[in-house]
Amino acid sequence: MTPSTATTPSLQLLMQEVSQQVYSLSTLYVVATPIGNAGDMTLRALKVLELADAVACEDTRNTAHLLARYGLSKELLAAHEHNERAVADKLIARLQAGQRIALVSDAGTPAVSDPGARIIDAVRHAGLRVVPIPGASAAVSALSASGLVNDQFHFVGFLPAKAKQRESALAGLRGMSATLIFYEAPHRINETVEALVAAFEPTRQIVFARELTKLFEEMHRCPMAEARDWLAADANRQKGEYVILVEGAPTATNQDDAEAERVLAILLAECPVKLAASLAAQITGQKKNALYERALRMK
Ligand code: SAM
Repeated sequence: MTPSTATTPSLQLLMQEVSQQVYSLSTLYVVATPIGNAGDMTLRALKVLELADAVACEDTRNTAHLLARYGLSKELLAAHEHNERAVADKLIARLQAGQRIALVSDAGTPAVSDPGARIIDAVRHAGLRVVPIPGASAAVSALSASGLVNDQFHFVGFLPAKAKQRESALAGLRGMSATLIFYEAPHRINETVEALVAAFEPTRQIVFARELTKLFEEMHRCPMAEARDWLAADANRQKGEYVILVEGAPTATNQDDAEAERVLAILLAECPVKLAASLAAQITGQKKNALYERALRMK
Protein backbone atom coordinates (compact mmCIF):
# COMPACT_ATOMS: atom_id res chain seq x y z
CA MET A 1 0.00 0.00 0.00
CA THR A 2 1.38 3.42 -0.91
CA PRO A 3 1.37 5.72 2.14
CA SER A 4 -0.77 8.83 1.76
CA THR A 5 1.18 12.03 1.15
CA ALA A 6 -1.49 14.03 3.00
CA THR A 7 -0.70 14.83 6.63
CA THR A 8 -1.65 11.76 8.64
CA PRO A 9 -3.87 12.12 11.73
CA SER A 10 -0.96 11.15 13.97
CA LEU A 11 1.26 13.84 12.43
CA GLN A 12 -1.55 16.38 12.92
CA LEU A 13 -1.77 15.33 16.57
CA LEU A 14 1.98 15.72 16.95
CA MET A 15 1.81 19.20 15.42
CA GLN A 16 -0.92 20.10 17.92
CA GLU A 17 1.26 18.81 20.74
CA VAL A 18 4.22 20.87 19.51
CA SER A 19 1.97 23.93 19.25
CA GLN A 20 0.82 23.53 22.84
CA GLN A 21 4.35 23.48 24.25
CA VAL A 22 5.70 26.57 25.98
CA TYR A 23 7.70 29.04 23.87
CA SER A 24 8.87 31.61 26.37
CA LEU A 25 8.91 35.34 25.63
CA SER A 26 12.10 37.42 25.82
CA THR A 27 13.98 34.49 24.28
CA LEU A 28 16.41 34.13 21.42
CA TYR A 29 15.75 30.84 19.60
CA VAL A 30 18.73 29.46 17.66
CA VAL A 31 16.96 27.57 14.89
CA ALA A 32 18.59 24.97 12.64
CA THR A 33 17.26 24.93 9.08
CA PRO A 34 17.73 22.31 6.32
CA ILE A 35 21.10 21.82 4.56
CA GLY A 36 19.42 21.32 1.20
CA ASN A 37 16.23 19.35 1.59
CA ALA A 38 13.19 21.37 2.68
CA GLY A 39 11.79 18.22 4.28
CA ASP A 40 14.41 18.43 7.01
CA MET A 41 12.83 21.37 8.83
CA THR A 42 11.61 20.21 12.24
CA LEU A 43 8.09 20.79 13.55
CA ARG A 44 9.45 22.78 16.46
CA ALA A 45 11.53 24.95 14.12
CA LEU A 46 8.38 25.72 12.11
CA LYS A 47 6.45 26.60 15.27
CA VAL A 48 9.17 28.91 16.57
CA LEU A 49 9.52 30.62 13.19
CA GLU A 50 5.76 31.10 13.12
CA LEU A 51 5.73 32.60 16.64
CA ALA A 52 8.84 34.77 16.24
CA ASP A 53 8.40 38.54 16.14
CA ALA A 54 11.43 38.74 13.85
CA VAL A 55 14.03 36.45 12.31
CA ALA A 56 17.71 37.43 12.39
CA CYS A 57 19.43 35.85 9.40
CA GLU A 58 22.59 35.75 7.35
CA ASP A 59 20.98 36.68 4.05
CA THR A 60 17.49 38.14 4.02
CA ARG A 61 16.74 36.98 0.45
CA ASN A 62 17.65 33.36 1.21
CA THR A 63 15.65 33.34 4.42
CA ALA A 64 12.61 35.04 2.83
CA HIS A 65 12.68 32.29 0.20
CA LEU A 66 13.07 29.55 2.82
CA LEU A 67 10.21 30.87 4.97
CA ALA A 68 7.97 31.22 1.91
CA ARG A 69 8.36 27.46 1.29
CA TYR A 70 6.54 26.90 4.58
CA GLY A 71 3.99 29.65 3.98
CA LEU A 72 5.67 32.05 6.44
CA SER A 73 6.56 35.71 6.05
CA LYS A 74 8.41 37.55 8.84
CA GLU A 75 10.29 40.72 9.58
CA LEU A 76 13.90 39.84 8.69
CA LEU A 77 16.98 41.39 10.29
CA ALA A 78 20.30 40.96 8.46
CA ALA A 79 22.91 39.55 10.85
CA HIS A 80 26.17 38.67 9.15
CA GLU A 81 29.73 38.46 10.39
CA HIS A 82 30.37 42.21 9.84
CA ASN A 83 27.48 43.60 11.87
CA GLU A 84 26.90 40.99 14.60
CA ARG A 85 27.77 43.36 17.46
CA ALA A 86 25.44 46.14 16.30
CA VAL A 87 22.62 43.69 15.57
CA ALA A 88 23.09 42.13 19.00
CA ASP A 89 22.31 45.49 20.66
CA LYS A 90 19.08 45.82 18.65
CA LEU A 91 18.04 42.25 19.39
CA ILE A 92 18.75 42.67 23.11
CA ALA A 93 16.46 45.72 23.23
CA ARG A 94 13.67 43.80 21.49
CA LEU A 95 14.13 40.74 23.71
CA GLN A 96 14.03 42.96 26.81
CA ALA A 97 10.73 44.32 25.49
CA GLY A 98 9.34 40.77 25.63
CA GLN A 99 9.75 39.64 22.02
CA ARG A 100 10.70 36.22 20.70
CA ILE A 101 13.48 36.36 18.11
CA ALA A 102 14.63 33.46 15.93
CA LEU A 103 18.21 33.31 14.69
CA VAL A 104 18.87 31.26 11.55
CA SER A 105 21.74 30.92 9.08
CA ASP A 106 21.58 30.19 5.36
CA ALA A 107 21.66 26.44 6.01
CA GLY A 108 22.08 24.07 8.91
CA THR A 109 22.89 25.03 12.47
CA PRO A 110 23.70 28.69 13.19
CA ALA A 111 27.09 29.48 14.77
CA VAL A 112 28.62 26.26 13.38
CA SER A 113 30.98 27.64 10.69
CA ASP A 114 28.28 30.30 10.32
CA PRO A 115 27.56 33.68 11.93
CA GLY A 116 25.65 33.88 15.20
CA ALA A 117 28.09 33.12 18.03
CA ARG A 118 28.77 36.80 18.87
CA ILE A 119 25.06 37.60 18.95
CA ILE A 120 24.37 34.61 21.19
CA ASP A 121 27.25 35.57 23.49
CA ALA A 122 25.97 39.15 23.82
CA VAL A 123 22.38 38.01 24.48
CA ARG A 124 23.59 35.61 27.19
CA HIS A 125 25.73 38.34 28.75
CA ALA A 126 22.64 40.54 28.89
CA GLY A 127 21.04 37.86 31.08
CA LEU A 128 18.50 36.81 28.46
CA ARG A 129 17.44 33.31 27.56
CA VAL A 130 18.84 31.48 24.52
CA VAL A 131 17.17 28.24 23.42
CA PRO A 132 18.51 25.90 20.73
CA ILE A 133 16.06 24.38 18.27
CA PRO A 134 18.13 21.48 16.93
CA GLY A 135 18.04 20.17 13.39
CA ALA A 136 20.27 19.60 10.39
CA SER A 137 24.02 20.06 10.50
CA ALA A 138 26.25 18.92 7.65
CA ALA A 139 29.04 17.79 10.00
CA VAL A 140 26.89 15.53 12.17
CA SER A 141 24.97 14.17 9.17
CA ALA A 142 28.21 13.13 7.45
CA LEU A 143 29.66 11.67 10.64
CA SER A 144 26.52 9.68 11.40
CA ALA A 145 26.56 7.86 8.05
CA SER A 146 30.35 7.48 7.71
CA GLY A 147 30.72 4.16 9.50
CA LEU A 148 33.98 5.38 11.02
CA VAL A 149 34.08 3.65 14.39
CA ASN A 150 35.38 6.17 16.91
CA ASP A 151 33.70 7.75 19.93
CA GLN A 152 35.57 11.00 19.45
CA PHE A 153 35.51 13.57 16.70
CA HIS A 154 37.26 16.88 16.18
CA PHE A 155 35.41 19.50 14.16
CA VAL A 156 37.91 21.52 12.13
CA GLY A 157 35.51 23.30 9.76
CA PHE A 158 37.17 25.21 6.92
CA LEU A 159 40.95 24.92 6.57
CA PRO A 160 42.89 28.15 5.91
CA ALA A 161 42.87 29.15 2.23
CA LYS A 162 46.61 29.93 2.14
CA ALA A 163 48.81 26.86 1.47
CA LYS A 164 51.36 27.50 4.22
CA GLN A 165 48.73 28.04 6.92
CA ARG A 166 46.78 25.03 5.69
CA GLU A 167 49.90 22.83 5.89
CA SER A 168 50.66 23.89 9.44
CA ALA A 169 47.02 23.39 10.49
CA LEU A 170 47.14 19.86 9.08
CA ALA A 171 50.50 19.15 10.73
CA GLY A 172 48.84 19.94 14.08
CA LEU A 173 45.99 17.51 13.34
CA ARG A 174 48.02 14.57 12.07
CA GLY A 175 48.53 12.93 15.47
CA MET A 176 44.94 13.31 16.72
CA SER A 177 43.14 10.02 17.32
CA ALA A 178 39.66 11.58 16.93
CA THR A 179 37.85 11.49 13.57
CA LEU A 180 38.57 14.82 11.85
CA ILE A 181 35.72 16.77 10.23
CA PHE A 182 36.39 19.35 7.52
CA TYR A 183 34.07 21.62 5.58
CA GLU A 184 34.99 22.60 2.07
CA ALA A 185 33.61 24.85 -0.58
CA PRO A 186 33.38 23.45 -4.14
CA HIS A 187 36.00 25.76 -5.66
CA ARG A 188 38.72 24.51 -3.31
CA ILE A 189 38.01 20.78 -3.22
CA ASN A 190 41.03 19.80 -5.37
CA GLU A 191 43.49 21.87 -3.35
CA THR A 192 42.12 20.54 -0.10
CA VAL A 193 42.31 16.92 -1.17
CA GLU A 194 45.90 17.45 -2.38
CA ALA A 195 46.75 18.91 1.03
CA LEU A 196 45.08 16.00 2.86
CA VAL A 197 46.86 13.42 0.68
CA ALA A 198 50.19 15.12 1.46
CA ALA A 199 49.48 15.35 5.20
CA PHE A 200 48.07 11.90 6.08
CA GLU A 201 49.22 8.31 5.62
CA PRO A 202 47.96 6.63 2.41
CA THR A 203 46.15 3.98 4.47
CA ARG A 204 44.01 6.43 6.47
CA GLN A 205 40.35 6.33 5.51
CA ILE A 206 38.82 9.44 3.98
CA VAL A 207 35.07 9.97 3.61
CA PHE A 208 33.58 12.34 1.05
CA ALA A 209 30.04 13.47 1.88
CA ARG A 210 28.83 15.51 -1.07
CA GLU A 211 25.55 17.36 -1.54
CA LEU A 212 23.96 15.72 1.49
CA THR A 213 20.15 15.56 1.45
CA LYS A 214 20.07 16.90 -2.14
CA LEU A 215 19.37 15.31 -5.51
CA PHE A 216 22.99 14.42 -6.28
CA GLU A 217 23.93 13.31 -2.77
CA GLU A 218 26.82 10.87 -2.61
CA MET A 219 29.05 9.46 0.08
CA HIS A 220 32.27 7.64 -0.64
CA ARG A 221 34.85 6.14 1.67
CA CYS A 222 38.30 4.98 0.59
CA PRO A 223 41.94 4.95 1.71
CA MET A 224 43.65 8.33 1.33
CA ALA A 225 45.76 6.83 -1.47
CA GLU A 226 42.63 6.57 -3.64
CA ALA A 227 41.18 10.02 -2.85
CA ARG A 228 42.56 11.83 -5.92
CA ASP A 229 41.32 9.15 -8.31
CA TRP A 230 37.83 9.24 -6.85
CA LEU A 231 37.65 13.01 -7.24
CA ALA A 232 38.95 12.89 -10.82
CA ALA A 233 36.68 10.03 -11.91
CA ASP A 234 33.62 12.25 -12.41
CA ALA A 235 33.66 15.93 -13.44
CA ASN A 236 30.54 16.51 -11.31
CA ARG A 237 32.66 15.92 -8.22
CA GLN A 238 34.27 19.30 -8.79
CA LYS A 239 30.88 20.81 -7.94
CA GLY A 240 28.74 20.78 -4.87
CA GLU A 241 29.19 21.12 -1.15
CA TYR A 242 31.43 18.76 0.76
CA VAL A 243 32.04 17.50 4.24
CA ILE A 244 35.28 15.51 4.40
CA LEU A 245 36.06 13.15 7.24
CA VAL A 246 39.49 11.73 7.94
CA GLU A 247 39.98 8.69 10.14
CA GLY A 248 41.84 9.50 13.37
CA ALA A 249 45.47 8.50 13.93
CA PRO A 250 45.84 4.93 15.14
CA THR A 251 46.18 4.75 18.92
CA ALA A 252 48.87 2.59 20.57
CA THR A 253 46.20 0.00 21.47
CA ASN A 254 44.94 -0.15 17.91
CA GLN A 255 48.47 -0.57 16.62
CA ASP A 256 49.17 -3.38 19.12
CA ASP A 257 45.91 -5.10 18.18
CA ALA A 258 46.69 -4.87 14.49
CA GLU A 259 50.20 -6.27 15.03
CA ALA A 260 48.86 -9.16 17.16
CA GLU A 261 46.33 -10.04 14.45
CA ARG A 262 48.95 -9.90 11.72
CA VAL A 263 51.32 -12.23 13.60
CA LEU A 264 48.52 -14.62 14.64
CA ALA A 265 47.18 -14.82 11.09
CA ILE A 266 50.61 -15.97 9.83
CA LEU A 267 51.07 -18.49 12.65
CA LEU A 268 47.53 -19.89 12.49
CA ALA A 269 48.09 -20.79 8.86
CA GLU A 270 50.97 -23.05 9.95
CA CYS A 271 50.25 -24.33 13.47
CA PRO A 272 47.49 -25.15 16.00
CA VAL A 273 45.84 -22.41 18.07
CA LYS A 274 47.71 -23.09 21.32
CA LEU A 275 51.14 -23.06 19.70
CA ALA A 276 50.26 -20.01 17.57
CA ALA A 277 49.20 -18.10 20.72
CA SER A 278 52.36 -19.13 22.55
CA LEU A 279 54.66 -18.10 19.67
CA ALA A 280 52.73 -14.86 19.14
CA ALA A 281 53.17 -14.01 22.84
CA GLN A 282 56.94 -14.44 22.48
CA ILE A 283 57.05 -12.36 19.26
CA THR A 284 54.81 -9.47 20.35
CA GLY A 285 55.35 -9.46 24.12
CA GLN A 286 51.55 -9.55 24.62
CA LYS A 287 49.73 -11.85 27.08
CA LYS A 288 49.39 -15.50 25.97
CA ASN A 289 45.82 -15.91 27.27
CA ALA A 290 44.53 -12.86 25.45
CA LEU A 291 46.26 -13.99 22.26
CA TYR A 292 44.76 -17.48 22.67
CA GLU A 293 41.24 -15.95 22.94
CA ARG A 294 41.90 -13.80 19.91
CA ALA A 295 43.26 -16.76 17.95
CA LEU A 296 40.10 -18.75 18.72
CA ARG A 297 37.97 -15.91 17.37
CA MET A 298 40.09 -15.72 14.24
CA LYS A 299 39.92 -19.44 13.53
N1 SAM B 1 26.03 25.78 9.70
C1 SAM B 1 26.12 24.77 8.68
C2 SAM B 1 25.96 23.38 9.34
O1 SAM B 1 25.36 23.30 10.39
O2 SAM B 1 26.39 22.38 8.78
C3 SAM B 1 27.41 24.88 7.89
C4 SAM B 1 27.56 26.16 7.15
S1 SAM B 1 29.07 26.34 6.34
C5 SAM B 1 29.04 28.04 5.86
C6 SAM B 1 28.77 25.62 4.79
C7 SAM B 1 29.58 24.34 4.59
O3 SAM B 1 28.90 23.25 5.20
C8 SAM B 1 29.74 23.92 3.12
O4 SAM B 1 30.82 24.59 2.51
C9 SAM B 1 29.98 22.44 3.25
O5 SAM B 1 31.30 22.18 3.64
C10 SAM B 1 29.04 22.09 4.41
N2 SAM B 1 27.70 21.76 3.89
C11 SAM B 1 26.57 22.48 3.99
N3 SAM B 1 25.55 21.84 3.40
C12 SAM B 1 26.05 20.68 2.92
C13 SAM B 1 25.49 19.59 2.19
N4 SAM B 1 24.22 19.57 1.86
N5 SAM B 1 26.30 18.55 1.86
C14 SAM B 1 27.60 18.56 2.22
N6 SAM B 1 28.18 19.57 2.88
C15 SAM B 1 27.41 20.62 3.22
